[in-house]
Amino acid sequence: MFMKNQYRLGWLLHCFWMLGLMVEVSAAELWPLRALLVCGGCCHDYPVQKDVLKRGIEARARVIVDTVQQGGVSKESQIPLYANRDWAKGYDVVIHDECFGAVADTNWISHILAPHRAGLPGVNLHCAVHSYRAAPGDLWQEYLGLRSMKHGKATPILIRTVEKQHPIIRGLGWQDWLTGNEELYNNVKVFPSATVLQRGAQGDDDCAITWVNRYGSTRVFSTSLGHFNETVSDERYLDLVTRGILWACDRLDAQHLRSITPSPPIRSTSPVTIPVKP
Ligand SMILES: [Zn+2]
Repeated sequence: MFMKNQYRLGWLLHCFWMLGLMVEVSAAELWPLRALLVCGGCCHDYPVQKDVLKRGIEARARVIVDTVQQGGVSKESQIPLYANRDWAKGYDVVIHDECFGAVADTNWISHILAPHRAGLPGVNLHCAVHSYRAAPGDLWQEYLGLRSMKHGKATPILIRTVEKQHPIIRGLGWQDWLTGNEELYNNVKVFPSATVLQRGAQGDDDCAITWVNRYGSTRVFSTSLGHFNETVSDERYLDLVTRGILWACDRLDAQHLRSITPSPPIRSTSPVTIPVKP
């Protein structure tokens, strides 16, 4: 009898332990992702765009976005954020939205890439694709999965999806989009580690515009779209970027496609005149 009760007690304790473990695992899975949005530098309305992105992403997903804007309007700033060795510590993903195309210091770029080399997911929007392109070699471009060096005039881009079964695209809600005026970034090289999801056509030019990359074992999502506020605040853009963030974190699921913030998505912002030159 004593042995039987002891067995039952042991079994009960085991059940409690398993339950505790399950609660712990599910709490960790549901913990909001922490994203760091880095912007600043040349040619874009970052004061508006960083808020549109933060509110748009947080309205769509279980993500908290911290924003850092540094570097003024120069394309050669080496911003204070990156001077910290642990600049990305505590974040689940970094959204690069900076525009520092003239930074050519390979040690600096390698330092920025260190957390991504170590497995931190990366998301790259518009001018992040042109940042650090003055540097010798392909340090930044291997991380992106693509090298681009210039863009065309600001006219509408016809986007069409070429990888319809990719998780980012499935459930996105749109496959083709004729944007307003935008900048189409050219493709000098698409690396074998990249998978192109969408292409954009502008006049005679036809380029990869949205893609994913494997940087070692790190997931990286990029779109070169997003010069003007009208594009960045478009629901199609915010949906695409949000799904790209969750995919990069390997959390593109129904539980993470739920907002934890009360603020509604921003539908549009007043037009702001932005210099077109990169
Ligand atoms: Zn631009």
